[in-house]
Amino acid sequence: MPNLEKLFENNRNWAKGQLADDADYFRRLSSLQSPQFLWIGCSDSRVPANQILGLAPGEVFVHRNIANLVIHTDMNCLSVLQYGVEVLQVQDIIVCGHYGCGGVRAACENAQLGLIDNWLRNIKDTYSRHWAELEGIEDIMARSDRLCDLNVLAQVHSVSHTTIVQNAWRRGQPLAVHGLVYSLHDGLLRDLAVRITSPDQIEDIYTMVA
Ligand SMILES: [Zn+2]
Repeated sequence: MPNLEKLFENNRNWAKGQLADDADYFRRLSSLQSPQFLWIGCSDSRVPANQILGLAPGEVFVHRNIANLVIHTDMNCLSVLQYGVEVLQVQDIIVCGHYGCGGVRAACENAQLGLIDNWLRNIKDTYSRHWAELEGIEDIMARSDRLCDLNVLAQVHSVSHTTIVQNAWRRGQPLAVHGLVYSLHDGLLRDLAVRITSPDQIEDIYTMVA
């Protein structure tokens, strides 16, 4: 596996470095994880959760997919959400988009790209709901970046609409859902100033009582 040789070398050096700093490091981490945060972000290779947040292994539970979508029929995302909330008892769920997102940009256009068109349809639905505002932005990059914001806001609500999150609130579990956007240009996170912490903040039609 010549292509992977460098990676194994990196890995050996990394493990050695960790042990040099803390001889107990792997023994301690292998026995438990109790992250405070669940990160739902884009698969884009330039948006790595741990590095951006300055968090070590064990401190953030991560789910990533193209354009950070939370779709109510996606067993993968819902399973991460359920495990994170009910078993790991995370306290903060961060939905993080990023400006310059290729998935969001593709959703603004009309070319067929294959299977992924079905995934990106979810972003087109958000575009459609905010059509007047978005069509009013002439610059295509600026329009796409505004759609990144709106997509994050839609996914924050989608997380909050799940029975997983609503049941946690009803049990009295402290749990906040946040919306952030990351900029590839300066490496900084922007807070979209949305923070949902109870069923009172979601539309009545989406509240679900057990
Ligand atoms: Zn992206």
